[in-house]
Amino acid sequence: MKIEKIEHIGIAVKSITNAMRFYGDILNLGLSEIVDVPNRKLRIAFIELSGTKLELLESMGEGSVIDRFIQKKGEGIHHICFEVEDFDKVVSELKDKKVEFVDEPRIGAEGKKIVFLQPKNAFGVLIELKEK
Ligand code: ZN
Repeated sequence: MKIEKIEHIGIAVKSITNAMRFYGDILNLGLSEIVDVPNRKLRIAFIELSGTKLELLESMGEGSVIDRFIQKKGEGIHHICFEVEDFDKVVSELKDKKVEFVDEPRIGAEGKKIVFLQPKNAFGVLIELKEK
């Protein structure tokens, strides 16, 4: 298994528009796209940096993972996403090593395979794996 880079860092925000008053207006970063994911009640916006991204995650309704996260912990860093070359092989390797997953692999907002690992595996950090 080879993890080559942090693909993005996910940040839970109450409002992407409000968040951009800091990330955009003050830090001068640009939003590359906004993706609505209605079946997960999420709106996602990416900020492109050199070689990595910030993923702003806004809840579109009560009960979404981001709504529950913000209720519990407030806004802030939600997860770290590693890019992996051979996604299916990495997932089966991790399963062999008894790593626990939040859910089964699925296609994420950008059309690539993703999966989340249970934070307890990673000392409290929610880790997302994304296919290259
Ligand atoms: Zn993510």
